[in-house]
Amino acid sequence: MGPDAGNIAVFCDLAGTLVAMDETRQLPIDARGNVSLRLLPNVRETLMPMRDHLIFVVTNQAGIKRGRLSLAQAEAALNELDRQLDGILTGWMICPHDDADGCACRKPKGGMIAELAAIHGVDLAGSIMVGDQEIDALAAAAGGVGRFVYAAEFFGWK
Ligand SMILES: [Zn+2]
Repeated sequence: MGPDAGNIAVFCDLAGTLVAMDETRQLPIDARGNVSLRLLPNVRETLMPMRDHLIFVVTNQAGIKRGRLSLAQAEAALNELDRQLDGILTGWMICPHDDADGCACRKPKGGMIAELAAIHGVDLAGSIMVGDQEIDALAAAAGGVGRFVYAAEFFGWK
């Protein structure tokens, strides 16, 4: 009955989980207006051995709605992250909305997880979500992910 590792996913939050965030808890934007990515400690070392699994990023980017960055910049940042991780990301979803939009994707809702799961045939019960905030834990539960782990524990920061 052992689950196929190929259908088990690791859903990851982005800022504060995989990469450093700025003082506003958002992705840092450099002087040229580009997203500046810095992998957090042990992210690479922890995820590389898990590359037989599906690895997704699910990220709230209300800054898109608010004009802080464009969807294209956010997409470019995810592509750059994937490059820095030697292409281990299976995919990602970006919520460009803010609370006022009432969308189904913005965490703590589970819409991004549900959509990725449907597209990729994920075994949600056997999967894991990693994040640094309670909304990540709530999104994991809403999306039906079997287990949530805080980034500090998952990546051994404490
Ligand atoms: Zn949304």
